[in-house]
Amino acid sequence: MNRILIKCPTTGKMIYTGFSMDPQTFEASPIEEMDPIECPACHQTHRWNKRDARFERDPNE
Ligand SMILES: [Zn+2]
Repeated sequence: MNRILIKCPTTGKMIYTGFSMDPQTFEASPIEEMDPIECPACHQTHRWNKRDARFERDPNE
């Protein structure tokens, strides 16, 4: 599994969205607009969609 990250538009930091998924599974999903997340870096709520997603190997694997 991979953790899905997005880039915080305020701080430029990569933040974890709370979702873990394989890139292929994520790409194949019909969801385009994801639920907004509360950002741990700047404490604002960010809207994000599929194109914003970046993947990172789960370090707990
Ligand atoms: Zn942020």
